[in-house]
Amino acid sequence: MEEQIDRLADMIARSKRVVVFTGAGVSTESGIPDFRSPGGIWEQYDPSEFTYQRFLSSAENRKMHWQFYRSGTLVSKDTKPNPAHYAIAEMYRIGKLDCLITQNVDNLHQQAGLPEEKVIELHGNMRWVKCLKCGKRTPTDEVVKRIEAENVEEPRCEKCSGILKPEGVFFGESLPERALREATHYSHNCDLFIVIGSTLIVTPAAYMPSYAIQSGAKLVIINLSSTPLDHEATMIIEAKAGEVMPKVLERLKDKLNRK
Ligand code: ZN
Repeated sequence: MEEQIDRLADMIARSKRVVVFTGAGVSTESGIPDFRSPGGIWEQYDPSEFTYQRFLSSAENRKMHWQFYRSGTLVSKDTKPNPAHYAIAEMYRIGKLDCLITQNVDNLHQQAGLPEEKVIELHGNMRWVKCLKCGKRTPTDEVVKRIEAENVEEPRCEKCSGILKPEGVFFGESLPERALREATHYSHNCDLFIVIGSTLIVTPAAYMPSYAIQSGAKLVIINLSSTPLDHEATMIIEAKAGEVMPKVLERLKDKLNRK
């Protein structure tokens, strides 16, 4: 693995535009359960109950959502970024990250210090809640606190009493158009695309590395299991992101300093 780490650091050092793409595997090391894996959330909850359509159409369904958020399974203020998040943020600080595309909804990349405008969130962000009527945004934590303090089952907008919906993308909801457009653009225009902790199954997010390859970029995959794009990758590192990325960063810094 040491040799692969060194090779990846070399590739990053030589590349002009590096895009990093992260999935659930990066967040699991911060204690956030992977939804789709065995023992994941969707074995305890029925995903068909959590669709966008059901959320809009029924107050009962919204109550269930808020109970779920209160449980802290998904959004907990105790969740902290891990070494992989910090290493990616540091890549940006040393000028070696064009942008980050993520399937994660937990805000941990921003918490690790990556500027918000460098994070493209294909599946939204569960740390924020938006009023569907007036558009007012509130941190999810605050809404959950209000639920507990006022003992309400379904919180409404304080300004206009519209329905409050977390900004994470629900089942049956389309992906945020701007994020999708930006992600597609950056994927087409990079020369190195690094996938970290994604099995590349959920589309259209998983199309991004294909766009990069089509445009001539090199693909590197760091993941614990295989992906449908493994045969297209220049390199595959089967290891934990939190163990690999800090080492890659260290080597990268050495190489840049030696130049
Ligand atoms: Zn409102």
